[in-house]
Amino acid sequence: MTQKIVFATNNVHKTAEVANILAPQYQVLNLKDIHCLVDIPETGNTFAENASLKSSYVYQNYHLDCFADDSGLEVDALNNAPGIFSARYSGIKDDSTNLQLLLKNMEGKSDRKARFKTVISLLKNGENHLFEGVIEGTIRTEPAGSKGFGYDPIFQPNGYNITFAEMEMSEKNKISHRALAMQKLVDFLKEDHS
Ligand code: IMP
Repeated sequence: MTQKIVFATNNVHKTAEVANILAPQYQVLNLKDIHCLVDIPETGNTFAENASLKSSYVYQNYHLDCFADDSGLEVDALNNAPGIFSARYSGIKDDSTNLQLLLKNMEGKSDRKARFKTVISLLKNGENHLFEGVIEGTIRTEPAGSKGFGYDPIFQPNGYNITFAEMEMSEKNKISHRALAMQKLVDFLKEDHS
């Protein structure tokens, strides 16, 4: 029997990708599909709290199983900033401005270690399950590449000599924080826990 599950996102591409993997066991709906038009507040202090706020909002208001993700970049020399504030590090939601601010704050720093992190919260049958994906790397001193988004042009994953923005999307999608967390979620959902 097909079970309905909500992915608390407005991103149609993200939804289609995971819907494809989870069919036919699950029918994946996004926020628009369930007519949830509110901007669910992300007022938590961690990726896990923010992801859980989104999944529990849907679970409580729509009575449907739901998963939600929250991601960001943590830089060691900046005490793990920008972290949960990655999308608005400079105060505005503009990738280029945020990236430039990060580079400026990293001027003269020799410790360039950083990681992208994703946490997914799955609320299923009233229980919260968390799945984390992490990719370690370093922050370049200058941007390189034009693919991807966000901080991709300055993030070089360990074991590579190119940035995420120089990598083919298919390659990034095999190793990224989001892909790793999503794989853990999919493995969990494909086992029968009911
Ligand atoms: P979200 O939670 O997936 O919306 O990610 C929040 C913010 O983290 C984004 O707006 C980006 O600034 C940053 N971020 C998350 N994942 C990536 C990535 O794969 N590449 C570059 N930046 C990312």
